[in-house]
This record gives sequence, structure tokens and C-alpha cells, in this order.
Amino acid sequence: MTVRVRFAPSPTGMFHVGGARSALQNWIYAKQQGGVFVLRIEDTDAARNKPEWTEGILSALDWIGISRGSYEGPYFQSENAGEHRAAAARLYESGRAYYCDCTREDVQARTGSQHQGYDGYHRDRGLGPGPGHALRFRTPDEGATVVVDLIRGEPTFENKLIEDFVIARGDGSPVFLLANVVDDMTMGITHVIRAEEHLPNTPKQQLLWDALGVKPPVWAHVPVVVNEKRQKLSKRRDKVALEAYREEGYLAGAMRNYLMLLGWAPSGDREIVPWSVIEDEFRLDEVNPSPAFFDEKKLRAFNGEYIRALPVAEFVDACQPWLTGTGTIAPPPWQPEEFDADAFAAVAPLAQTRIAVLSEIVPNVDFLFLASPLIDEAAWTKTMKDGSAELLDDAVAAFEALESWDAESLKSTLEAVGAERGLKLGKTQAPVRVAVTGRTVGLPLFESLEVLGRERTLTRIRAARLRLT
Ligand code: GLU
Repeated sequence: MTVRVRFAPSPTGMFHVGGARSALQNWIYAKQQGGVFVLRIEDTDAARNKPEWTEGILSALDWIGISRGSYEGPYFQSENAGEHRAAAARLYESGRAYYCDCTREDVQARTGSQHQGYDGYHRDRGLGPGPGHALRFRTPDEGATVVVDLIRGEPTFENKLIEDFVIARGDGSPVFLLANVVDDMTMGITHVIRAEEHLPNTPKQQLLWDALGVKPPVWAHVPVVVNEKRQKLSKRRDKVALEAYREEGYLAGAMRNYLMLLGWAPSGDREIVPWSVIEDEFRLDEVNPSPAFFDEKKLRAFNGEYIRALPVAEFVDACQPWLTGTGTIAPPPWQPEEFDADAFAAVAPLAQTRIAVLSEIVPNVDFLFLASPLIDEAAWTKTMKDGSAELLDDAVAAFEALESWDAESLKSTLEAVGAERGLKLGKTQAPVRVAVTGRTVGLPLFESLEVLGRERTLTRIRAARLRLT
């Protein structure tokens, strides 16, 4: 039997990191089993779907390595509507489903409870199809439904506690529960690997598989992803969109490595490992069923390590979208013609060791490309003290006299300027840094001045000096 898995997102919003995690797990499982990965877009909720969300899913999957053309699909659930209706009809004809026209109020009036499920009123009343008649599945009165789950063992659900649930609405349209089962069936899915949130649906879906006469798939419900307060990650509260991480400058490699650690770990005391190791070692049945903490701080640290591990030339390439502003990434504060690729290449190795996400490249190098630096006023006030004006005067004089404009000479020269005033280098360089870069923190100062050049450095220190009079 060929293993066939599917990833079945609904295109109703930005693509969620939890979804990306499930997609990767499906992807690796299929690969390990010599199986097939199917992508199915569950687009039957016409009111909430938008084509751009579908495109967002395809491009996000592509980014993390599930590339277009290397899987089966995408199929669209809406295209299978005929099959969904046919399955509903079969269930009705075989007596496994029946029509019901009860409103919620009717049920409440009979049961006296707002919370109790449907009471089976129409089970044997022989109501036929018609406008406003919903189709309900007749759940067995006895026995239990045992879900075979690779991660959770065999969760068992007593059938008498499962209400006769709706499978097609009053307008005849099949509901998600049924459409999802019918699609899995027609696509020959053997393993359903999906988020834990769907576990409550599973006994109902398994009953549908049984009623339709097809062996149900093996299930694997992967753990819910939570924030630091142990709340389920929510798009209203948490940063959940894969695209947001991409725009911030997370590397795809770091992201997918981190996502695979949600509920699982490679052997040894390692977390950052090559993708090939994850593909070898990942075991679906080793995934921990408890909620998985999505730790953004840890992801940041991960990303920093991935950035530092890049060959410099790749780092330079990876920074390009932030240096030029491409796609949805905001343009930098300088004009395209102000950018100097050689100057950037000269400071890139210094930046590479200091940033955790690629978007941080911009504030680190903007001083190189802007005609005058963007002065952070708070940094200015904090740094420019009594004596700063004179210190800048001395720095200008000493720098003007420099024969060789290189980092080492600049450093020893400024050190000497400070020493005359009894200042350590740190104190001496702070006003110079703010004058030249506009900030108190950044790349190593003297290398920065070397790349910026004599003329521009002196102009900036003089301008700052003027401001202090
Ligand atoms: N379309 C469902 C969702 O996005 C997935 C259902 C499934 O994987 O079975 O939550």
C-alpha cells in the first residue's frame, strides 16, 4: 500500500505557523514512507475564502521547502462538491442518515437544556428531503469508536455520547465534516496527520468512513501550538503568520528546523541540525502529544545562529530584499542610487555576527548610504554632554591629520584624543558614533569609519559639532 498523506488548509487567513508545522510533518512522513503528499485547499467556506490566501499558502509552503510541482495538487475542495452530495445521498438512501427540520429552539424546548445535543426526535419520523431539512447522521446507540492515532494511542469515544450530527444543511450543502471525509476517501488518503484541534471531529468522521464502507485512515493528531501563557496561538493575539516571520528576516532553514522541534527533538543534545538529519530521524510516533510552546525568543536565537553559519556571499544575497525593498518588504530609508554594493560587502561580515533577523540589517548600515545620518534624538541627548563639542573638535583635527584612513589608525588616534582628557575609549567614541551613525549602538565604529571614508566622516563630525554650539 502506498502511503498517501494530505495537507488540507482552509484559505481563510494568513498561513499559520502551526499549519506550516503540520505540513512539514506530513511532508517528511510521506518522504520516509516512499509515499505521496497531496495538497488540498479546503475552500468550501465561500464567505471566508479569498484567492490571495490560497496564493499565500502556496508561496509559504514553497518557502519552507515544499515546493510547487513536487507534490500532488493543489486540489480544491469546492471542485469535489458533486462527490460530497453523492455521499450524503448514499447515506440517506442506506438509512444511515435522516432528515430533520428541528430548530435549535425546538430541541431546547423538548430537552429543557441549552447545552444538550440533538435529541434524535426525527430518527424514525420518516421526514423526506425538502427546503430547510437538514440531513443528520444516525450514530450507533451502542459500542464505542476507537480512533487509532499514531501519537495519542487509541482514544475511545462512546457512541451513545455522540449526537446525531448534521452532515448536510437545510439548503442541501454538505458540511465540512463530511466533505473532508469524502475528499480523503476519493484521494485515497491513508494517513491523516493534522492538528489536535480536530480530534473531537475524528470519532464522527470515522463513523462516516465506516458508514460509507471504506476503511478509515490512520490518524495522527499533532499537538496544539501555544504561547508563553500556554494559550493556543491565536491570530488576534499572537504573531502567527509565517509571512510575518519571513518579512522580518527569518531564514527558511531556521524556521523549518524550529517548527519541527514543536513536540519532537532530534537525537543527542542537539536542536540545530541539518534538514537531512530531521528527515532521517523524525518519527511521527515520537511526537509528544502535549501542547507545544512556540518560543519566539528561541526562534530568534536559532535564526541568529543560522545567519552566522551562512557563507558571507550568501548572507549578502539574503539581505538583498531588505536593502532594496522587494515584494511586501518595506523599502529602506535610502534611495536606490545611494546604495553602494561594495561598501555593503565591506561591512557585511561585521553585521552578520550581530543581527538575529535580516531586517535588522537596515538600521545597522543606513548611515553608509544616507547623505546624512538619521539621528536618534534620545541617543543624542544621552551622549552629547559637556565637553563633547571640544572632544569632537579634537577628533576632527586628529582625523584630518591622519595619513592612512584605516580602522587601526582611526582607533589609535581617537584613543589618544581621549587619553589627553583622561577618558577611556568607550566614552571617547560614543559622541563620534552618534555624530556619524546617529545611534549609540551598531557595527564596530572604526571599521565603519574606514568604509564611510574620510570626507563623509569629517563632514558628519563637523555638523554634529556645529549643532552643539
Ligand atoms: N481545513 C482544515 C483546517 O484548516 C483541516 C482539516 C484536516 O486537516 O482534516 O483546519
